[in-house]
Amino acid sequence: MNSTDDTWFTTSQNEPRGYIQPRLLDELWFHTGTNCNLRCPFCFEGARPGDNRIEFLTLADARCFIDEALELGVKKFSFTGGEPFVNPQFVTILETALEHRPCLVLTNATEPLMNRMAKVVGLANKPNPLKFRVSLDHPDPARHDAARGTGNFNKALDTLGRLHRAGFGVSIARLMLPDEDSAVVDRSYVPFFRSVGVPDDITIIKFPEFHLSGSSHQVPEITETCMSHYLSAEQRAAFMCHFSKMIVRKNGQCGVYACTLVDDVQGYDLGPTLKAAMDRRVMLGHHRCYSCFACGASCSENE
Ligand code: SF4
Repeated sequence: MNSTDDTWFTTSQNEPRGYIQPRLLDELWFHTGTNCNLRCPFCFEGARPGDNRIEFLTLADARCFIDEALELGVKKFSFTGGEPFVNPQFVTILETALEHRPCLVLTNATEPLMNRMAKVVGLANKPNPLKFRVSLDHPDPARHDAARGTGNFNKALDTLGRLHRAGFGVSIARLMLPDEDSAVVDRSYVPFFRSVGVPDDITIIKFPEFHLSGSSHQVPEITETCMSHYLSAEQRAAFMCHFSKMIVRKNGQCGVYACTLVDDVQGYDLGPTLKAAMDRRVMLGHHRCYSCFACGASCSENE
């Protein structure tokens, strides 16, 4: 699906497609690259060792967009991959961003971060706070390790504790199961948190099934009427594409994408600058847009 297709602005039933008009840039995400030390079969970015679909973000790229985002009043910077700490320039990029705004890093908290822990601990002295969101897919270590590799639940849990003790904010991300009792699943993590000295009540971000990068999963289409009839103005404002953007490097240059979930469809590249991207209406035609519509899926985290 692309912005030149007939179906970009209308649904298959020829109804006006739902959209979000971006209003402000509260949060700027940076994709650090799809190279990852792990190869999780469910990864919606298709990240794995050596993958180059999204190239490594460079310090020069990051500096340029940090400056533009500051002009637009950005409040925080967030980083995702792949595994950010596989990117050789990532710690320097993070140091630069922390000079200006609070930062959030999504990480699998295994060797790439563990091996840089001495440098990372020094980031606690920066002018702005740094928070880490560690992936712990299931409260059952065997299920986590079945996808991520033997021993990786314990590595990630141990790193979560070390980050907390070093003074950083911490949260976790987990997979949402169909028909789960979310409160029960969340509580199952508490004994693990206690074992590494992390508070019982840290934020747990739950992700639904997003399906693989480049897949064309069939979901109900979102019309303009759906957006106004079923959602309030407040709910529409909570869509990531309303208040954030993501920088993605492909084929040697950076583009500004509508959010963290749509970098596999070229039409969601809204241009080379944040100012241009903020003027563009985001059409809700990606299959992952339905997760935002139906269950309020978001990679962002309220403070
Ligand atoms: S996936 Fe969600 S946040 Fe991204 S463009 Fe679609 S509706 Fe907006």
